[in-house]
Amino acid sequence: MLIGIKVDVDTERGTRFGTKNLARLFQSLSIPATFLFSLGPDNTGRALKRIFRPGFIKKVSRTNVLKIYGLKTLLNGVLWPGPFIAKRHASLLRDIHKQGFEVGIHAFDHTYWQDSVNKLSQEKIDAEFSRAYSTFMTVFHFPAKTAGAPGWQANEKTLRAYDNKNLDYASDCRGTHPFYPKIKDTQFNTLQIPTTLPTLDEVLGTNINESVLVDYFINLLTPHAPNIFTIHAELEGMHYLPFLKKFIQTCLSKGFQFQTLETIAKKYLTEKNKVPICYLTQGFIEGRSGLLSLQGSEIFD
Ligand SMILES: [Zn+2]
Repeated sequence: MLIGIKVDVDTERGTRFGTKNLARLFQSLSIPATFLFSLGPDNTGRALKRIFRPGFIKKVSRTNVLKIYGLKTLLNGVLWPGPFIAKRHASLLRDIHKQGFEVGIHAFDHTYWQDSVNKLSQEKIDAEFSRAYSTFMTVFHFPAKTAGAPGWQANEKTLRAYDNKNLDYASDCRGTHPFYPKIKDTQFNTLQIPTTLPTLDEVLGTNINESVLVDYFINLLTPHAPNIFTIHAELEGMHYLPFLKKFIQTCLSKGFQFQTLETIAKKYLTEKNKVPICYLTQGFIEGRSGLLSLQGSEIFD
């Protein structure tokens, strides 16, 4: 059983507290992980307009957004300019990489991407992704080789932006196994490693009791493909750190193996012609509001 933990870091607060907590936990359990950072301004407060979308209220009350994000974060980009995460925390980000963890791009402006990407032109998406890419370079002094879109918001324009930057792989969708994505007639060159497990916030507040959360996630693991678990610095890196610790410890006690997504990707990249081509589609996932990218059917030709 193979597991890759992808840490999405959405906010300045999550960067400041969550990434450090997670790195400490992973070090103490000797497991590798992949951190994807939001590098530009934290404008989380602007996401509040999402509250007025159907389905979001349930999610807000379920996961207690105020407790998780903190009042200050919820006003970022509304009452004051959103703090520029990579500028404020460059040494912290570099330190995560120095500790041996894989690092990549989650976003420049997380809120902007999550809320607007399907309305933006190719030029605007290229510009936004280039901002993330060049900020990453400024911080780490090497080019980003991976990205994972906020809120699993990907489309043919975002995949084109990735191809233009020659990423090794990306992780933008929900699915079952690694593949090369195709949308309409266009096949893209950047390998997709989909998130295979639900996220904690999708599971919280359903009829699954918190005391059985670890077992719930363990039972979803499969030996047939790499299990990719997306966690959040703001959630599992803070309030739900004990859950994550118990999950990892249980996996280790069962002999399950952890790898970075980069290591998982390498195996597929050395046998490119054996990697399936699948459509990248849009759909719904239980516990999450709005459309997101899904691994579609395999293409045989
Ligand atoms: Zn995110």
